[in-house]
Amino acid sequence: MIHALDHRCRQQILSTTNTCLSADEEPGLCPVCGGARWYVQKTRPRHGRTLVHGQFEARETVHVCSRGCRHPSGRLVTRGAESLTKHLPPSSVAGYDVMVRVGLERFLRHRQRHEICSMIENEAGIRISTGEASDLSRRFVRYLARGHQAQTERLKAALESDGGWPMHVDATGEDGRGTLLLVMSGWRQWVVGAWKISTERADLILPCLRETVRNFGAPCAAMRDLGRAMTPAIDEWVCELESPIPVLACHQHFLADVGKDLLEPSHAKLRDLFRRAKVRPKLRALVRNLGRKLGFCIEDARKAVRRWQSMAENGHGIESGNDGLAIVRAVAQWTLDYKAQASGLDYPFDRPYLDLYERCSTALRATDAFLRSPPEDKKVKSALKRLHRYLAPVEGEVPFRQTTERLRGRAALFDELRGALRLAAIPQKDETEQDLHRMQERLDELVASLKKRRPERGPAQDIREAIDIILKHIDTHGANLWGHAIHLPENVGGGVRLVPRTNFPAENFFGKLKHDERRRSGRKNLTQDLERLPAEATLVYNLEHSDYVTLVCGSLDRLAEAFADLDLERHEKRLKGLPVDDQQQDLGTKLQLSSASLSTADRRVIRNEEMDRCVAAAARSRAQHRLN
Ligand SMILES: [Zn+2]
Repeated sequence: MIHALDHRCRQQILSTTNTCLSADEEPGLCPVCGGARWYVQKTRPRHGRTLVHGQFEARETVHVCSRGCRHPSGRLVTRGAESLTKHLPPSSVAGYDVMVRVGLERFLRHRQRHEICSMIENEAGIRISTGEASDLSRRFVRYLARGHQAQTERLKAALESDGGWPMHVDATGEDGRGTLLLVMSGWRQWVVGAWKISTERADLILPCLRETVRNFGAPCAAMRDLGRAMTPAIDEWVCELESPIPVLACHQHFLADVGKDLLEPSHAKLRDLFRRAKVRPKLRALVRNLGRKLGFCIEDARKAVRRWQSMAENGHGIESGNDGLAIVRAVAQWTLDYKAQASGLDYPFDRPYLDLYERCSTALRATDAFLRSPPEDKKVKSALKRLHRYLAPVEGEVPFRQTTERLRGRAALFDELRGALRLAAIPQKDETEQDLHRMQERLDELVASLKKRRPERGPAQDIREAIDIILKHIDTHGANLWGHAIHLPENVGGGVRLVPRTNFPAENFFGKLKHDERRRSGRKNLTQDLERLPAEATLVYNLEHSDYVTLVCGSLDRLAEAFADLDLERHEKRLKGLPVDDQQQDLGTKLQLSSASLSTADRRVIRNEEMDRCVAAAARSRAQHRLN
C-alpha cells in the first residue's frame, strides 16, 4: 500500500505541470542614468525545470528605463527577473542544477542516460528525455571548460605555490579516428588542458602546448613518451620558453622501446615456430578429448590430480584408469596456462612465448620421466605418448632451441637494464634524490660493462648486436633520462621535489577514462564513444580533486551557481560591448580543420544525399559549360 501511495504521489507531482508564478521584480536603479523610473516593456512566459523548484511556468516582467538609456553596446537598458536568470541558463528550460546533476552523473559516476533520467524523475519529480540528457551533458562540459578558463589565474597561482608543476603530455586514439591530447600537472594530477587533434602530429601538438603556457605559465619540467611526433613537438616548444626546463623521457617507454628492439625478432620467430608446429591447438584438442572421456567423473578426476600433486615430488608415476587420464590432462592444461607465469606487465617486460617454451620443455621432461616407468593401462599410456609427441618439437627441432637461446641471452641483457633503472615492476613512490643518483650511476656502470663485454668479432655476433642496440638507445635518449630532481624556489620553502620517472599520471588517466567509458556504454570498442567525447570532458575528472574544486567553485554544491555567474559575467561583457573571448573554442576549430581525415562533424555534412546531388549537379553544370 505504501508503495502504491508513493507511486500515486509521484504521478501527481509529475502531473502538476504548470505551477504558475509571476516573476515581477523591483528593477532598482538604472546603471546608466541612475534613475528609478521604469516602464514595463513586456511580459514573457518562461518554462522552467529545476531540481529545487520542480517544473514551473513563470510570467516574467521586463522593465525598460523610462529615459530610454542604452548600454555601451547600443542595447536598451532593460531588467528582467534575476530570480529566473539565476536558475535558468539563457534560452533553456532545464535549470543549471539539472545540467550539473546530469553532467556529474554522466561523467563522474558514469551512469547511462536512462538511469540519469529516472533518477531525476524520482528525486525531483521532473521528466527529461534521454535526448535532453545528452544535450545537457554536452552543455555541462562546455560550462565546465569555461569555468576552467575563467579561473586560470587562481589555478596558476596554486601551481606556482607548489614551486611549479611538472607537465605530463600524452595522446591517445582508437583506430586512428582522431586523437585526444592531454596535458596534466604531475604533482596535483589535474588535467590542465585537453584537445582533439586529427592525428598525433608535431604541428598540431605545438599550439596546444603554447596555449598551456599562456594560461598556466611554463612548467618546471616536461615528461613525455618517445613518440615520433611528441619528441620534436616538445623540443621545439622548449626552445620557445624563456628559461630552459628538463625534458624527461618516460623510463617505462624507454625500456619498452629498447626491449622491443632487442627481443622482437626472436620472440616473433618463436611465435611463428609455435604456430607452425601447432603446439597449442594440439594440446587443446588433447585436453578436450580427455575431458570428454572423463565425463561425469571429472570431480573425482580433479581429486586424483590433487592426490598426485601431493605425492609427485617423491617421483611418483602415473596411475592407471581415469585418475591417470586426469593427470595427463592436467599436465597439458598446465602447459597451456603459461600466461599464469607472467608478472602482469606487457611485452617486452613479459615474454609470453618464452614462458610457453619453458612450460613445454618442463612438461616434456616430466612426460619423459612418466614414460620411463609407464602405467599398465594402455589408454593412459597412449594419452601420455600423445602428449609427448605434441611437445617433442620444442626440444627436438634445432630452430626452436636456437631461437630460444638467443631470446634468453637478449632477455638477460634487457633485465640487467631494467635492474639498473629499477623498473622491475611499478616504480616506487618514495624514491629519493639519492635513489636517482644511484640509478644513474648504475646505468653508467652498465654502459661501461657492456662496452667491455662487447665481443669484437667471433661467433657471439648476436650478443654484439644486442649490446649495440642498448648502447645506441642510451646514446639517443640518455640526455632525457635524468633531471627529475626539481629545486624548489626559496619563496615556497626551497627543497627538492621529484618528478615521476614515468608518464603514468597521464597514461593511467587515459586507462581510467577508457575503462569508465566502457563500463558506461557496455561497448568494448570505444572508437565512436571516444570520437564523440568532447576533449573538455577530461576536465570533469578534476572535480575528483578537492583542491581543484575549491579553487573553481568552492564546493561541488556551488557548481551550478558558478555556472550561472559565468553567464552573468558574459552577459555584462556583452552589454558593455566587450568581446567575449572563447580562445579554447577557436583553437579547437583550427585543430580540427587542419587535417585531411574525416571527422564526425565533417562526415555528417558530406555523407548525405544532398551532397551527392550537389556534386553531381556541379559536375553536370561543368559539362554544360563545356558545351556552351
Ligand atoms: Zn536610465
